[in-house]
Amino acid sequence: MNTLTQQLQTAFADFSFQADFPLSTLTYFKVGGPAETYLELGQREQIITLVRYCHEKNIPLTVLGGASNVIVSDQGIPGLVLKLVNDEFTVVGKQGEKTLIRAGAGLKTALLVKQTVDAGLTGLEFFLGVPGNVGGAIYNNAHYLEDLLSEHIYRVEVIQEHGEVTWLTWEECQFGYDSSRFQKTKEIILQAEFHLKSGTKEMSQELIRRATLYRAQTQPLGMPSSGCIFQNTPNTPELKKQFPQFADKKYVPGGFLIDQAGLKGAQEGDIKVSEKHAAFFVNTGSGTAADIKKLIKRVKTTVKEKFGASLQEEVFWLGRP
Ligand SMILES: Cc1cc2nc3c(=O)[nH]c(=O)nc-3n(C[C@H](O)[C@H](O)[C@H](O)COP(=O)(O)OP(=O)(O)OC[C@H]3O[C@@H](n4cnc5c(N)ncnc54)[C@H](O)[C@@H]3O)c2cc1C
Repeated sequence: MNTLTQQLQTAFADFSFQADFPLSTLTYFKVGGPAETYLELGQREQIITLVRYCHEKNIPLTVLGGASNVIVSDQGIPGLVLKLVNDEFTVVGKQGEKTLIRAGAGLKTALLVKQTVDAGLTGLEFFLGVPGNVGGAIYNNAHYLEDLLSEHIYRVEVIQEHGEVTWLTWEECQFGYDSSRFQKTKEIILQAEFHLKSGTKEMSQELIRRATLYRAQTQPLGMPSSGCIFQNTPNTPELKKQFPQFADKKYVPGGFLIDQAGLKGAQEGDIKVSEKHAAFFVNTGSGTAADIKKLIKRVKTTVKEKFGASLQEEVFWLGRP
């Protein structure tokens, strides 16, 4: 057991910390070195107490949800890696024409959707196929085509830098395409409230069926990956000239540009640009974070040279450089 794990285990005897935990067993990409100390925690007050202790003792803290949108360095993550598994779901009650529901950050996004549909509510169906948890989805403001998760969020409860717990309004969350305030502030999302309209189970199930079919047809779902590596690219007059089929769109799909650049199937080590969806990289065996970094650099450089477009990453890098 390493020193940090010993310190934490002594301070919190009831928790089961693990030393040098191999994060590649957790990440959807199957990539990443060890966490110095690792813990899963689901009880709200315990999460708050532990986070405050880490702040007081200057222990580096990294929060994980489902680990589906992260690339963990091959050298691992120093400090404590805390996976939130607080997965409560509550129907709070009516709010005008809508119904307010509350979900823990550690609730799987797919289960959030299923429970809202079971409660006769509509709005979140397209997010059923987004892997990971509510906290991670809010951090990134998960999207399905042009539908953003934030359109359904009412407010978010966080632990702030000095351990204060507070609810943030929708405006305070500063949601944008693939962005939120949490990417800047590093506040920890504890739970969130969503406001949803009443629906019918049949209609919801039809929306889920359509979205699931679309994903299966367009995404390499059977292979380890982090979903889209790149965001869609804001459209420009230059891109509109080259690709008039997107002239009336705000964004040009990143995967389209990568495909047009002839990069489908491009590979570094065991990491490959998917043949099915060019914005996805897949791990074909024992790919590493270093391989991903090399392939990202190659793809960005080629797309820039060919089309003058700058691809931006959608995934989050964690750990030692
Ligand atoms: C096959 C596949 C399909 C995908 N499809 C989509 C899609 O359609 N739309 C889409 O938007 N994304 C998609 N993704 C990407 C990813 O699944 C989503 O962004 C997802 O919402 C990430 O959630 P997570 O819990 O796994 O986050 P993680 O990967 O665990 O974390 C992502 C980031 O959020 C931070 N974080 C996580 N939880 C918290 C918290 N409670 N408080 C503060 N910070 C936190 C982490 O520190 C990290 O920086 C897909 C991924 C895969 C593998």
